[in-house]
Amino acid sequence: MSSDTHIGNHRLAPETQMMRYGYDPALSEGSVKCPQFQTSTFVFKSAQEGKDFFNRQSGREPLPEGENSAGLIYSRFNNPVLEILEGRIALWDEAEECLVMGSGMAAISTTLLTLSKPGDVIVYTEPVYGGTDTLINSLLAQFQIRGVGFSSGEGVEGLGNALVTARKLGHVPIVHIETPDNPCNTLFDIEAAAGLLKEITAQRERRPILMVDNTMFGPLFQQPLKHGADLCLYSLTKYMGGHSDVLGGSCSGNHELISRIRSFRNTLGTTMDPNTAWMIMRSLETLKIRMQASAASAARIARYLLEHPMVESVNYTGFIEPGNPLHDVYARQCSGSGSTFSFNVKGDEAAAFRVLDAMKVAMLAVSLGGNETLVQHPASMTHSGVSMERRQQIGLYDSLIRISVGLENPDDIIADLAQALEAI
Ligand code: PLP
Repeated sequence: MSSDTHIGNHRLAPETQMMRYGYDPALSEGSVKCPQFQTSTFVFKSAQEGKDFFNRQSGREPLPEGENSAGLIYSRFNNPVLEILEGRIALWDEAEECLVMGSGMAAISTTLLTLSKPGDVIVYTEPVYGGTDTLINSLLAQFQIRGVGFSSGEGVEGLGNALVTARKLGHVPIVHIETPDNPCNTLFDIEAAAGLLKEITAQRERRPILMVDNTMFGPLFQQPLKHGADLCLYSLTKYMGGHSDVLGGSCSGNHELISRIRSFRNTLGTTMDPNTAWMIMRSLETLKIRMQASAASAARIARYLLEHPMVESVNYTGFIEPGNPLHDVYARQCSGSGSTFSFNVKGDEAAAFRVLDAMKVAMLAVSLGGNETLVQHPASMTHSGVSMERRQQIGLYDSLIRISVGLENPDDIIADLAQALEAI
């Protein structure tokens, strides 16, 4: 057992490790905090060292025994702060390795480009974040890569049907799942998806890679790799960054997969910049308390909305009733309900707009997972690229408002919602 992660048999919790893991103060003048390495490039001790580092970085030579870095070359490839941040996110995800990138979309696009080739078909849950939808259905078409979506609500049966359709069109290298989905909060059973992919893969065929966008719950409430996912991705812009002041993304998984994605990242140039990495490393020190506090407030706010006469329904995973098959999925897969959820007001788009325009404390803005409460209208904003017909099928109605609960006093948000709902 590594002395970095354990005291004897006792495994140190990730929140403890966020203040120290991967950083040796002795290498930085005793500084308690890891300094910023705000540099684009690194000096080699000798030409031979430069040659060795390049050979290791490109995979032409293995890393020396006991080393976990190819050596510092250039900040598009690596940087001490990036490497420490990657080690810390890997701890949360219980992953062998992690890669950080310039945004959530940088992580998703770099991963999809690494794992697919012309003629392939990507199977994905719907609704999915609007940028991911555009990438799969519009941009990747340029490379003859297609997408087959299915509604998260159809569960593993929907996945099975989508796979049958997709496999008639071409090879399926990837299944992309967003759970809970953004913005309807429907859960997807990761373990059942992994089981199905194993079951349908013929001998000598390569099993589709199961990638999960875990942005909505973060590692605090869901750890996809433990349930059979191959890759766990985040928009670090959300809960991990947590202050709505940086953009970032990450992808965690095993050494083999991450090495392949790293080559694409380093060449496409979707790497995170060192200053952002430093900011997110600092944010991770408070990840647990921030997410716990906002989740506790969200539970109260969701309950208030559920009982409000002008609210038609609330999409909040904490309200999944026993008897609903997703109740069992929630119990197995999740350790909390997070703090981003959505609700339908009684009425149409105009009613939803009246509420949004009347909010005084919560700000009308897209994004989620920051320490301030944000509200937005998915049908006309984040998911406006999804056709009206498809939006109806997946339950993304014009009356839907998404709320990302922050760290304000929940009584203030409830008072704000109370007066805004009057506007209907
Ligand atoms: N995945 C989800 C679930 C998101 O909500 C978002 C952004 O809202 C993204 C990915 C994309 O992240 P970014 O904006 O950091 O590129």
